[in-house]
Amino acid sequence: MTTKPHIEAVIPVYNEVDSLPMLIQGLDHAKTCLQDDASFSYLFINDGSTDGTTQLLKTLNAQRTDIRVVELLHNFGHSAALACGLEHFRGDVALFMDADLQDPPSALAPLFYQWQQGAKTVVVERGKRPEKHGFLFRAFYYLLRKTSRTLPPINFGTHSLLDKSVVDRMKSHRERNRYFPGLVAACSGEIAAIPLPRGERVYGKSRVGFAGLIQLALTAFLSFSSAPIRLVSILGLICSLGSLTGAVVIVGIKLLTNWAIPGWASTMSLLFFASGIQLLSLGILGEYVSRIYDEVKKRPLYWVGEQLEPRASSQEHRVSSSVTPPIPLGHYRRPLS
Ligand code: UDP
Ligand code: MG
Repeated sequence: MTTKPHIEAVIPVYNEVDSLPMLIQGLDHAKTCLQDDASFSYLFINDGSTDGTTQLLKTLNAQRTDIRVVELLHNFGHSAALACGLEHFRGDVALFMDADLQDPPSALAPLFYQWQQGAKTVVVERGKRPEKHGFLFRAFYYLLRKTSRTLPPINFGTHSLLDKSVVDRMKSHRERNRYFPGLVAACSGEIAAIPLPRGERVYGKSRVGFAGLIQLALTAFLSFSSAPIRLVSILGLICSLGSLTGAVVIVGIKLLTNWAIPGWASTMSLLFFASGIQLLSLGILGEYVSRIYDEVKKRPLYWVGEQLEPRASSQEHRVSSSVTPPIPLGHYRRPLS
């Protein structure tokens, strides 16, 4: 007799007290479509919420038997919360998604169907985006795909269903600067995609924010494409060729004609152009150096505080004492006092 696969939804949350009830309602409904083919539970990574999310998760964990919670000591960011989710995942299949209802819970059944058909990695391909910066997202995906050899031609983010084997591979990627879809692609063979339009955030503003997205985009380019560092070389080459040509032209004019080359404005604009390129190149190199520094420091990505196990597996609502895997990306169990 084969046992039913267990799907665990791994959901990072930061100040999502308004979205959570609707999200859980949506997933509770979506899981009924699985019928008897799989069991389902939740793992919430609470990334230092300060708005009542923590209390809500505690209550849900105490009331239900299918919700466990890992509390981070403070806010470490979306990527770190996802890394924590990978580390703490228990199950056969992981459903990664955001809590803000931009990732439709109804995708669960089609994602699982693809897994049943043998796909180890199934992602939700993002169609039209209603967000303000939709054009920037499209440009980002286009450029990243054009300049990276390892990324598939699919626009996808966190929303995905990953087989345990893929999660295990992703756990061995210990880098600090993490681009989740890039890691999914690096650790997968074939990737099945389900195209779906991306919804709008139902409550509040993006918790990652525009600056956070720029940071993530930079991480994606620097870790999955060699385009930025090549751009520095190309700019250097263009400037050298430009100045060489300029020098030849100036010497030619001096030797062959009586023209006086007008000076100040052209010199200054060339100077500005060259300094701009030098600063840009330094900036790009700086981004690499700061990331190398991050990696060398080997600081943990996050620290775990309390872990709330589901009621069924522990008689009362308590701090977990389960054994955690060796050298997790920064695991810390607060002593019971
Ligand atoms: N999130 C998190 N830590 C953070 C910021 C966000 O765990 O520091 C969670 C957030 O609660 C949501 C998901 O990550 O579940 C995506 O966040 P958001 O919707 O703000 O990102 P966006 O959709 O704007 O990229
Ligand atoms: Mg969002």
